[in-house]
Amino acid sequence: MRAKLVVGNWKMNGGLRANAALLAALTAEWNPAADRPIAVCVPFPYLGQAQAALTGTPIAWGAQNVSEHASGAHTGEVAASMLVDFGCRYALVGHSERRQFYGDTDAGVAAKAAALLAAGVTPIVCVGETLAEREAGTTEAVVLRQLDAVLAVVAAQAAQLVVAYEPVWAIGTGRTASSEQAQAVHATLRARLAAAGAADIPLLYGGSVKADNAAALFAMPDIDGGLIGGASLKAGEFLAIARA
Ligand code: PEP
Repeated sequence: MRAKLVVGNWKMNGGLRANAALLAALTAEWNPAADRPIAVCVPFPYLGQAQAALTGTPIAWGAQNVSEHASGAHTGEVAASMLVDFGCRYALVGHSERRQFYGDTDAGVAAKAAALLAAGVTPIVCVGETLAEREAGTTEAVVLRQLDAVLAVVAAQAAQLVVAYEPVWAIGTGRTASSEQAQAVHATLRARLAAAGAADIPLLYGGSVKADNAAALFAMPDIDGGLIGGASLKAGEFLAIARA
């Protein structure tokens, strides 16, 4: 059976006090025996806080980005080895906000995934089409181009990836892909991953997932869980999604 996984992406939200309350609520309410694996990807400055709060709990943590470089003259960047120092199991790469607003390219995302794998951190590779690309009928071509760029660089370790399909038009908009729309793209991605020897990696859906639409999405055969943005900032909502 494929692993299930629900990951929260806090984006650039939080503060020491609010994080403490959120992390305490998650650890108090998450039942490792009955519940599925979950993780939170927090802003870099709060990795230490997440590590302190979550060490010894069944909840994993990670970052939202990483440098493709190992060390050196890269002011403002954070290396994969630094994420290891803070116990990160995961890091997002290629989130659409980074592709859209911070210049992340397919090749750069692949290099970041490779840097993470070399350090022993699991990359959560985000792919997804814009509304214009969907309307132009290029959804499959776009997500496969984004995925192939990563597979070309980390072919031997493809089975260690997590992939998240996040249609850009559904992120933070309240507009979710229908279960059928999401499943169709997931099936395409699954076929490509299977050809790369990675058929069984977790394939997550993200884009305005809420407690009331999660069950229908997660019931789809190729959707193994979710990458949750806004709704991961409320413990009750996030855990309701994770239980869906
Ligand atoms: C995200 O940021 O990865 C995301 C899916 O956001 P939201 O759930 O808020 O749409």
